[in-house]
Amino acid sequence: MNNRILVIEDNEQNLYLMRFLLEKNGFAVIGAENGRKGIELALSSRPLAILLDIQLPEMDGYAVAAELKKHGELDQVPIIAVTSYAMVGDRERILSAGATGYIEKPIDPDTFLTEMSQYLPKKRNNKEDENENSGCR
Ligand code: MN
Repeated sequence: MNNRILVIEDNEQNLYLMRFLLEKNGFAVIGAENGRKGIELALSSRPLAILLDIQLPEMDGYAVAAELKKHGELDQVPIIAVTSYAMVGDRERILSAGATGYIEKPIDPDTFLTEMSQYLPKKRNNKEDENENSGCR
């Protein structure tokens, strides 16, 4: 199963925190400290999802999202913006640039995983998980 999450984030502490929370929950984290590297890694590693900081050097998150959307092979990969911008207009701007959703900074360790998970592709529509532990004899 693809459990790779690409995190494009230039702030070391934020990257560290997201990596910690994701790895603790069974995801493999690929980190990129700028947009160019992030786009390269998105294409080469085909992650399950991309967490994208907005305030990045040189190429900001809006530009990165727009560039990622040009690659049809990444169609099914949600882009989740991680933004400290509180203004409604900025949210709309990142969503129209191609983001699937956004998570607000500062990252809250208690809610980060739940927030992120709502944007992940839904794989199972059946009751397999529930039945696994039902102990049929
Ligand atoms: Mn940043």
